Amino acid sequence: MPGLDPFTPDHDYCVYCHAPAAGMCAECGALCCVDCVELVMGWTTRRATCRSCLERSEAPSTRPNHRSPAILWVIAVAVGAAAIAAILWLD
Ligand SMILES: [Zn+2]
Ligand SMILES: [Zn+2]
Repeated sequence: MPGLDPFTPDHDYCVYCHAPAAGMCAECGALCCVDCVELVMGWTTRRATCRSCLERSEAPSTRPNHRSPAILWVIAVAVGAAAIAAILWLD
């Protein structure tokens, strides 16, 4: 019966608010509705850009190597724990 299959919806939905999507973000390709996308003027064309890509482009100073080194410690501890677990597992 058409229309009752949950895996073939009539619409693709916005990844942010789950409204029927109007199109894809020009930056990341995420499906967005008209409320979650903004038209950004480019050199020759207008680009539909989603909220997360807008936030990324508006905050160019937040580069990964300027972030807190705490995350590096967390990664180092996780890698070390994984290595210890692997050694114990193999032993
Ligand atoms: Zn939306
Ligand atoms: Zn995007």
